[in-house]
Amino acid sequence: MSFQVFGISVSRGVAIGRAVLVASSRVDVAHYFVSPTEVETEYNRLLQARDAVSQELQSLKADLPPDAPHELDALLDVHLLLLNDEALVDAARQWIQERHYNAEWALSAQLEVLARQFDEMEDDYLRERKADLEQVVERVLSALAHAQDKGAPGAAAVVARDFAGEDPLLLVAADIAPADMIQFKRSVFQGFITDIGGKTSHTAIVARSMDIPAVVGTREASRLIRQDDWVIIDGDAGTVIVNPSPIVLEEYRFRQRQSELERARLARLRHTPAITLDGQRIELHANIELPGDTAAALDSGATGVGLFRSEFLFMNRNGELPSEDEQFAAYRAAVEAMRGMPVTIRTVDVGADKPLDRMSVNELRHEHVLNPSMGLRAIRWSLAEPSMFRQQLRAIYRASAFGHVKLLLPMVAHLSEIKQVQEAIRRVKQQLDDAGQPYGLVELGVMVEVPAAALMLPMLLRHVDFISIGTNDLIQYTLAIDRADEAVAHLYDPWHPAVLHLLASSISQARAAGKGVSVCGEMAGDALFTDLLLGMGLNCFSMHPSQIPSVKQRVLRADTQRLAAAIPRILESEEPGRTALDALASQRLH
Ligand code: PEP
Ligand code: MG
Repeated sequence: MSFQVFGISVSRGVAIGRAVLVASSRVDVAHYFVSPTEVETEYNRLLQARDAVSQELQSLKADLPPDAPHELDALLDVHLLLLNDEALVDAARQWIQERHYNAEWALSAQLEVLARQFDEMEDDYLRERKADLEQVVERVLSALAHAQDKGAPGAAAVVARDFAGEDPLLLVAADIAPADMIQFKRSVFQGFITDIGGKTSHTAIVARSMDIPAVVGTREASRLIRQDDWVIIDGDAGTVIVNPSPIVLEEYRFRQRQSELERARLARLRHTPAITLDGQRIELHANIELPGDTAAALDSGATGVGLFRSEFLFMNRNGELPSEDEQFAAYRAAVEAMRGMPVTIRTVDVGADKPLDRMSVNELRHEHVLNPSMGLRAIRWSLAEPSMFRQQLRAIYRASAFGHVKLLLPMVAHLSEIKQVQEAIRRVKQQLDDAGQPYGLVELGVMVEVPAAALMLPMLLRHVDFISIGTNDLIQYTLAIDRADEAVAHLYDPWHPAVLHLLASSISQARAAGKGVSVCGEMAGDALFTDLLLGMGLNCFSMHPSQIPSVKQRVLRADTQRLAAAIPRILESEEPGRTALDALASQRLH
């Protein structure tokens, strides 16, 4: 039966493929394809793991003390029954044989099928056996991990191994933590659907950086969609069509081809400098999460990195932080790759919906972390961990010997935070001097993402070289809307008059002070806002590399002086969104 699920559009374009349901707790299971010749070996791996668990359960049973409660013995029997039921491992064989999934993935895929059947059972007792099944599967997964060859992908690996004949795969999950999402960068999936999340939640941001269609905040997609269903993700409309009819499928295949042609057309702008009709040069920089993303940045024609979200280097490390040398190697790699162009490294911004471990928004909610967005995140966390922070500063300064590095501090709200950082920098430079280690000139900037920073900007500007406006958080904190919460996503409004006022005044104050200003929040990469920001006087935009071509196209058609003339009317309007679209469209030359 065909049906639709509605959510929030994260990433444009159309993806058509088969659904792969992944439970949030099992997102870190390895997902890769095995070649047709490896199918039998892979299935044997699964059988061996099942036998190992069977033995484990039998010895547990045998070792039960005589006075152990009878329920324990019965429970082990239930687990053995579930383990050996042909609906589990035997049925998982089909995923290996037909879809070429690796053993762990095949088992998790089959678990999702069975879990759905348990959910639909009338009988309470039987329905509750789902938890037992999950425990059994966990045991088999850990037996698989235990027996893992050294050369095989690790438990958290998501490896793309292409070979002809595979249907595209679309990941469907209740929620994915940013730490897990980052692992999908090299993944087999060509689209994402999640139940949780808002447009600028960090999971959405990472999905967007992968430049594949994604829809978040669907609330119940993971409950309604079944393993292996045919699914269309309409990333433009934020809808998901499940089991489409042949006519609908054909229509979307057509749209998919159209958007590929449009991309190819825009890609031709790569080497064209971003200069407006009235001769203003506009810098289009890239937002990156990992040093390897510089390849996409260069490919898209970025003239620098405007935001390196360094916190992603700190994730998926089982509580260990990256050493100074490791960080230095990562920053140096990014700096060298950009060949003299500026690389703006933001100091670690953990906390809120970006915890260091793989907690998803859903889990955070259940952890009852009080207002994590207002807690110890970003620069607050760094200043609370001085030795970690100095290590990061040292690594960044050492990398500055290899190119053009700018240092950016997240979530600054107090002048004292800048002063503390300046003191830390002074100490770090002293240490480097003492050790004879070279470093370059590093400009210091702050993110304007808390209204307090925007409101006291003239004061902050006296102490820094540049600012970067983080509209994702600026909107969140100005409107008191949690950016990761789909329940209030409709109120998350970049066109809100308060947001526009803070944006316009921040850009003009920075320019008047002769300091650099860029926008690196999601607004910068959305071509809908390009004219507005150009009209406000912005000349540096930082965004996902894939967004650069469409923003550049806007820049090439813009006359900043004419756009500027429309800004006062927009700022005074009670409906700025509508006024802006009318006023700016009439100022734009086609
Ligand atoms: C922002 O808040 O706009 C920003 C760019 O930072 P992040 O999205 O990483 O919080
Ligand atoms: Mg931010």
